[in-house]
Amino acid sequence: MKLNELTIAQALEGLKKKQFSSVELTKACIAQIKKHNREINAFITVCEEGALEQAKKTDNLASKGDAFRGKIPLLGIPIALKDLFSTKGIKTTAGSKVLENYMPPYDATVVEKLKAAGAVIIGKTNLDAWGHGSSGENSDFGPTKNPWNKAYVPGGSSSGSAAAVATDMCLGATGTDTGGSIRTPASFCNVVGLKPTYGRVSRYGIIAMASSLDSIGHLTKTVEDAALLLNVTAGNDSHDATTPIKEVTDYTKKIKDGIKGIKIGLPKEYNVKAKIDSSDIKIFQDLGAEIIDISLPHTEYAVACYYIIQPAEVSSNLARYDGIRYGSERQNFGEEAKRRIMLGTYTLSAGYYDAYYKKAMQVRTLIREDFIKAYKKVDVILAPVSPTAPWQLGTKADDPLKMYLSDIYTVTANLAGIPSLAVPCGFSKEGLPIGMQILGPQFSEETLFKIGYFYQETTGWHKQKPVMRVKKENG
Ligand code: GLN
Repeated sequence: MKLNELTIAQALEGLKKKQFSSVELTKACIAQIKKHNREINAFITVCEEGALEQAKKTDNLASKGDAFRGKIPLLGIPIALKDLFSTKGIKTTAGSKVLENYMPPYDATVVEKLKAAGAVIIGKTNLDAWGHGSSGENSDFGPTKNPWNKAYVPGGSSSGSAAAVATDMCLGATGTDTGGSIRTPASFCNVVGLKPTYGRVSRYGIIAMASSLDSIGHLTKTVEDAALLLNVTAGNDSHDATTPIKEVTDYTKKIKDGIKGIKIGLPKEYNVKAKIDSSDIKIFQDLGAEIIDISLPHTEYAVACYYIIQPAEVSSNLARYDGIRYGSERQNFGEEAKRRIMLGTYTLSAGYYDAYYKKAMQVRTLIREDFIKAYKKVDVILAPVSPTAPWQLGTKADDPLKMYLSDIYTVTANLAGIPSLAVPCGFSKEGLPIGMQILGPQFSEETLFKIGYFYQETTGWHKQKPVMRVKKENG
């Protein structure tokens, strides 16, 4: 196994046992990026020099011994960042030409935390501009390709992060999920994606899309790695008033405790039985979980509700890019951003506010209440991530409504502010990955990890890797 193919947990073990150094691990990731990035387009910026320098520093720190290592939980681990995370001195584009040359003067809180935990920042990954999209095709720097079949989309908007993790260009990557942008690409690329509870992870320094929906998470090769990353990124931040002062437990601690007696709900509105293999449901039953049919009656309004609230907030957040303070001219906004600015401005304008925005906010409350009621009966809810398998590049790009409809199963978690863990659950007949999500009440990440972990260990779907055609080395 090559070093870049390791999971975070495996790499931490290897580094601890001094089987290899962080410099070697980082070099292996960079070699993989050099081999495949031109074709996959997962990275907008690769930080080769900076990463190697950081890796060298972590190797020096590691020589101080294990007691020291314990305090720096990700020491030497190469992580990629979605290019929506502000990074001091590293270009941050948001996937848009508007910020093509923007150099942030500070690090996002999550970046600060990852660095303090010893992570090596390997580069900035591609995304739909501003996070607007479900396929990765809206990037101003060209679409990311699905590593399983390059004619297909990798899912968006965290397209580059998903493709980079799936192809072992890094050990883990950050993402943002406003309406599915971590879970959709994770499931289209066969990796694990966590959208935490709203407010569990600070949004400070992340280029805002829709502030009441934006959740900051990550994409990893395993559920255990997702827990390891959340251990570092979660917690209160004085720069973000939506992060509660609430203890961050060690999310890996109970991950192997089993799921006996856990009640899993199958919402009839999500077509779970048609979309998820009945053998998967049986797996949970065999592990001792109880399966219960439930209803989330307002699901049918979720896409309409989301596509009013989200553009309203987008129109407000993008107003700061007026070409005066920073960023380039407004004419560099792409079609999708313009569409959302116009839609959002319209629904917030006098005379239309009550009919659209206020109504959508009322529906949002009903959707949230659906979940609150459901969680009185069940501990978690099982659902598909996407109504379809990955589609061919270009097939939905000209039809925004079609694209929006692909978010039907993901936007509800954002509207309700609840966490959701996406895990690989098989392949379509074309051989493309499919994912399912486990949704829980607010701050139930520990339970989600437990369930995801057992499903992952029982099925082993996550171990399947895309075949990457490698150009012959040394001629
Ligand atoms: N696909 C959704 C949208 O375009 C979600 C995007 C996201 O989560 N950033 O709004």
